[in-house]
Amino acid sequence: MESIASAEVKDLLVVGGGPAGAAAALEARRHGLAVSIWERDRFPRHKVCGEFLSSESLSALEEEIALEAYHPAVIRRSEFISPRGRVHGFPLPHPGRGLSRRALDEALWRAAASRGAEIHEGECVRRVSRQVATRGDGSSCLWELDSMGGKKDAARALIVSAGRWWSLEGISGPTKNHGEHGGAWLGAKAHFGGLSPRDAVEMYYFSGGYCGLAPIEGGLYNACCLVHRSLAQDGSAVADFAAWITEISGHHALAERLRPGSQVSKTVATAPVKPARRRSNIQGALLAGDAAGFLDPFTGDGISIALQSGRLAARVLVGCLKNRSVPEGIERAVEVYRRKLDDAVGGSYRLAGILRALVWAPSWLQESVAASLPWLGPRLEAETRWRNSASNVVGRNSAPPVAGGDANLAPEPAGAFDPESLERESV
Ligand SMILES: Cc1cc2nc3c(=O)[nH]c(=O)nc-3n(C[C@H](O)[C@H](O)[C@H](O)COP(=O)(O)OP(=O)(O)OC[C@H]3O[C@@H](n4cnc5c(N)ncnc54)[C@H](O)[C@@H]3O)c2cc1C
Repeated sequence: MESIASAEVKDLLVVGGGPAGAAAALEARRHGLAVSIWERDRFPRHKVCGEFLSSESLSALEEEIALEAYHPAVIRRSEFISPRGRVHGFPLPHPGRGLSRRALDEALWRAAASRGAEIHEGECVRRVSRQVATRGDGSSCLWELDSMGGKKDAARALIVSAGRWWSLEGISGPTKNHGEHGGAWLGAKAHFGGLSPRDAVEMYYFSGGYCGLAPIEGGLYNACCLVHRSLAQDGSAVADFAAWITEISGHHALAERLRPGSQVSKTVATAPVKPARRRSNIQGALLAGDAAGFLDPFTGDGISIALQSGRLAARVLVGCLKNRSVPEGIERAVEVYRRKLDDAVGGSYRLAGILRALVWAPSWLQESVAASLPWLGPRLEAETRWRNSASNVVGRNSAPPVAGGDANLAPEPAGAFDPESLERESV
């Protein structure tokens, strides 16, 4: 085991190197913070995701990476296809892109490294612990980290951006209980070549799930589904994704669409998947991206929320870390983050929860909602997006919150959410 000299104590530790973690590290570097980021996987790697980048994510991404250099597919329409083959769609108010997570996550990770973040790849974090010491000259706070490989690190603040499920000794994470209806979802995906190109994201829905097709770079397609466990127990063992999804969905139009294609990647799967609002902080650590809550994949905005919340988490910490006013400043930053995150995504969760019920609705109801999509779709899309008014308050050009004197730290308004009362992910 290594030991840490006090000179090596950084400003910020980030656990998890997906979009949220990379965005947090990049934002920290933008403000001159010393940051290290830890990721258990090695890049590039496949990740279960529809690989649709909403227009909201594009502006955030373009500040970090040369997105167009990866030749993402341009996506201009959203279409919903019923089991009977009826198609209802609408033009996206602003085009999105299709880019594989293999390319995207690696690009963000390398960008963080090139801007001076200390990166630890292929290093699973095993434990984090927080020590607060009070001396005559004030209090200090130190987060220590141990990796599975026996490495150590330390910093004055911690962001956990480890995705939907994580387990870290020293801090309580989400619990995976396999429960009743609505919880036990399985996500799986694979890449296909040989499908006729279109500029639409196609959502094939059926009772108990849906499968999205999105064009991505290199003329390929990503097929990604979310299905209830009553239809399928395990997607990871699936060699032939097209045959598997056709069988469990009974969706002929989907089968026809996939028929000319050939699978060019392995199938990857993740379970359980449960859309749920979680919490913004725990034991003085900020949670970002899916770690703070997982919005239904059909909204196509998870990556945007991950990027925005990762940035926001780093941004609210800048003032107190620069002023060395921890732990008091961190407590205040945690509160600011909690409030801004709620402003940004609270409404999205409420609406997505209502729409989620449609997955189990009778097909006539599914079809009539789909028929209203040309009118309803753009409005629903707008309502499930990250609300910029929240991040603007700590936006690129505004001053970072300074402990002890920031207008952002006004008292919590009545009715604001209480993180302790949020649903913990329990499936
Ligand atoms: C079926 C499905 C379809 C989706 N489709 C879309 C879509 O089309 N568009 C969209 O915008 N969003 C989509 N999403 C949502 C999107 O994938 C997530 O919102 C996004 O990945 C969140 O990013 P993140 O950085 O918070 O988490 P992640 O991307 O999960 O990254 C977390 C990282 O933390 C690492 N990690 C975990 N534990 C540790 C540890 N102990 N030590 C070190 N590292 C650790 C993991 O390896 C991982 O790389 C979809 C999700 C699902 C399940």
